[in-house]
Amino acid sequence: MENLSQKNTAREGGCQCGTVRYQCPNQPLKLYVCHCLECRHQSASAFGISYIVARSDLQLQRGHENIKVWTRAADSGRIVECAFCRNCGSRLWHQYSELSDSLSIKGGSLDEAPNISQATHIWTRQKLIGVIIPEGAKQFSREPEE
Ligand SMILES: [Zn+2]
Ligand SMILES: [Zn+2]
Repeated sequence: MENLSQKNTAREGGCQCGTVRYQCPNQPLKLYVCHCLECRHQSASAFGISYIVARSDLQLQRGHENIKVWTRAADSGRIVECAFCRNCGSRLWHQYSELSDSLSIKGGSLDEAPNISQATHIWTRQKLIGVIIPEGAKQFSREPEE
């Protein structure tokens, strides 16, 4: 597996107000930049960053009591559980309710920005005009089949 991150150290992250903090000891299994409308809404920005790790790799340090989960149906019909800080509203991670092996840390919540130069870009058909995808980056117009 290629090294998707800049450093081999444990990463830390949390919400904007600092109430919720987590550690993530291992490298991501996958890294996506998602241009879909849902990710733009959840991030209130140009795209979402999905930093996919094993569920056991998300280790909450503090703020458990401040985490609230909002759910929505994905295109696939599966239920996405979206965890956020109830104090400041920062989105922290997403997981499918029935899949137990991995979850998606929202990349903007990491203290050290992930290197997204090798990320796979998905839902490019909904990409903002003006967002440039790096040459050679893997890209899919929708969700890739896996
Ligand atoms: Zn917060
Ligand atoms: Zn998306």
